[in-house]
Amino acid sequence: MDIGVVVQNVGALAAINAAVRRGRPFIDRVVTLGGSMPKGPGNYLLPIGTPLSHFVEKTGGLKGPAGRIINGGPMMGAAMADLESPITKGTSGILIFGPGEIKPVNQRACIRCGKCVSICPASLMPHMLSNIVEFQLFDKLREYSITDCIECGCCSFECPAGRNIVQFIRQGKAHLWASERG
Ligand code: SF4
Ligand code: SF4
Repeated sequence: MDIGVVVQNVGALAAINAAVRRGRPFIDRVVTLGGSMPKGPGNYLLPIGTPLSHFVEKTGGLKGPAGRIINGGPMMGAAMADLESPITKGTSGILIFGPGEIKPVNQRACIRCGKCVSICPASLMPHMLSNIVEFQLFDKLREYSITDCIECGCCSFECPAGRNIVQFIRQGKAHLWASERG
């Protein structure tokens, strides 16, 4: 907004148009199938609730055993154990890679370089949030505005110490929601 630009999610706008102008509820969505393993990568319009395993099978299956399955994109996605879950309204894409393709990251202590702070689009202090969760100082989560995090993944991507900052933040949010629900 500061520079007069608004970025909108095209899929969300299309769904709003369908709902408001045609009375059509959100019953399907475009899902991207990618990564090195799917035989039929591409964009597919799928009903919400479609089992992921059925979806992958119908696109031709996999070239071999899956080593890592990611629900979402490379920056914001979360690893999944298997394909035994359905397409939800939040499933933007599924990435499937072979064994050994994703190298494990050796997570180390924060060196306070400040890279995560300088890159955060929400003006947060990601290093503090990850430390708060790691050392279970949960009463400080609100103080550092954890709920303002949009989980873009930029901080984790930049961190030279390989810290899983977004995963810590997700854990912190889950703890906050659970504690505030009582
Ligand atoms: S980028 Fe990583 S090492 Fe640097 S301050 Fe942030 S969490 Fe710490
Ligand atoms: S994931 Fe959250 S804390 Fe990290 S850069 Fe994005 S908005 Fe900031």
